[in-house]
Amino acid sequence: MSASFSTIVLFDGFLHLGVCPYVTSCISVRLRTIDAVIITHSHADAIGGLDDLRDWTNNVQPYIPIYVAERDFEVMKKTHYYLVDTSVVTPGAAVSELQFNIIHKEPFIVNDLKFTPLPVWHGRDYCSLGFRFGNICYISDVSEIPEETYPLLKDCELLIMDALRPDRSSSTHFGLPKALEEVRKIQPRRTLFTGMMHLMDHDNVNEYLAKLMETEGLDVQLSYDGLCVPVTL
Ligand SMILES: [Zn+2]
Ligand SMILES: [Zn+2]
Repeated sequence: MSASFSTIVLFDGFLHLGVCPYVTSCISVRLRTIDAVIITHSHADAIGGLDDLRDWTNNVQPYIPIYVAERDFEVMKKTHYYLVDTSVVTPGAAVSELQFNIIHKEPFIVNDLKFTPLPVWHGRDYCSLGFRFGNICYISDVSEIPEETYPLLKDCELLIMDALRPDRSSSTHFGLPKALEEVRKIQPRRTLFTGMMHLMDHDNVNEYLAKLMETEGLDVQLSYDGLCVPVTL
């Protein structure tokens, strides 16, 4: 999301739950326009909010472009078939206007803003997409970064990345130790972790992370609902 809010992009399209800092920020600034919704992957916590967009296109704006990888679009055809094929909707019922755009490995443009997909592993043999826009990299769900994705993360100013739990990684998500290892490798100017579970004690972990600034010069903190980060793109 640009600092001037001239381009509003949601990742994963939950309007009510606030799964990432962008979404909650959008709500707190009384968002009225969504320029695009970009899908990271097709797990329930990523695409479960799609139905919220149906009402949005009936009451707030006429249509919303959705950017989604082919494989995830195939999942949507099953989970949200009535959003993809509106001919099946009961006559008289509210029909959504979602415009599906299939994304590939190449960057794509939303309102003059370039988004580069960052393919990562989110569990064995399951690919999730992070996205780079300007020098900001957003990776919400990751258990391993493939070698070919690291060059896309070069000169990153702000990295927003998955860190599920404080002690260890799970099969599908980075834990704090692994996430920090990756931060040291990627060397972004600043990092905000996201996707933390309840075991992550916000204040204690932030205190620990602040010490890494003193010892290693690492600028890393946990994000929180409602966090708004002004950026220049
Ligand atoms: Zn997932
Ligand atoms: Zn997830």
